[in-house]
Amino acid sequence: MITCEEFFAEFADYMENQVSPEIRKELNLHLSQCRACRVLYDTSLKTVKIVTESGSFELPHSVSDPIIDCVMAKLRKDRS
Ligand SMILES: [Zn+2]
Repeated sequence: MITCEEFFAEFADYMENQVSPEIRKELNLHLSQCRACRVLYDTSLKTVKIVTESGSFELPHSVSDPIIDCVMAKLRKDRS
């Protein structure tokens, strides 16, 4: 089982379908077991749809970074 940090490290590539099948499997497993990352995924999916409809397939870092920061801050709070 990978950690949330490892999930976040691969997340951008995962959203762009640029991870290997093995890593994708690990990320899917993590998503199915981690609520925080699933929220991040759902939020990003909605963002990607909006971005895609506006003509770009890239997940801009200006959009994804604040979401990741927000989830990471929440994770740190939950752990302490
Ligand atoms: Zn997680």
